[in-house]
Amino acid sequence: MPDHNQTAPGELEVVRRFINTWSIPNDTREETDALPELARAPKVWRKEFPDQPLSRADSLVRLQRLRADLRSACRGEVSSSGALNERFNSAALRLKTRWVGGATKLNIESSDASFVGYIVAVVANAIASGEWARLKTCPDCRWAFYDHTRNGSKRWCGMTKGGPDGRACGTIAKVTAYRAREARKGGVA
Ligand SMILES: [Zn+2]
Repeated sequence: MPDHNQTAPGELEVVRRFINTWSIPNDTREETDALPELARAPKVWRKEFPDQPLSRADSLVRLQRLRADLRSACRGEVSSSGALNERFNSAALRLKTRWVGGATKLNIESSDASFVGYIVAVVANAIASGEWARLKTCPDCRWAFYDHTRNGSKRWCGMTKGGPDGRACGTIAKVTAYRAREARKGGVA
């Protein structure tokens, strides 16, 4: 589906893939957590996250808690900001300048060499750059996607009805909004 590019830019894509280790697949419609399997089998992990190996500090519980915090942050829950601040503290984030293409750039890095520390630093950089606000979870199927629209107004994941049992996220809400607009125009809803 070329119209539905959901991939996040740069390292934020690793965060998006990590968030989507919990999903509700279209075929089963059952909440599925891939993390226990991923954390248990290094080969499977390497396939999914080739450049970010797990460290001893990355226990399954720690990974699952981080993912839950990131999901609530993507949903825009107010309490998520306290949870993120705690994450930033425990990753002991530090600022580092780099000379890139003739200019000094500021980067946030984690002092903690774990996968969790890496993810937390990528999230902090994305918040600083404004890209974080475009990483969203679909209110319908909960899939995490990156909003590439010009004004950042996308709400649903863009999954379209692929067959008789296919999901079309946000369709009911979209139809309701359309009818409301038509009714305001004086048309027949
Ligand atoms: Zn969806």
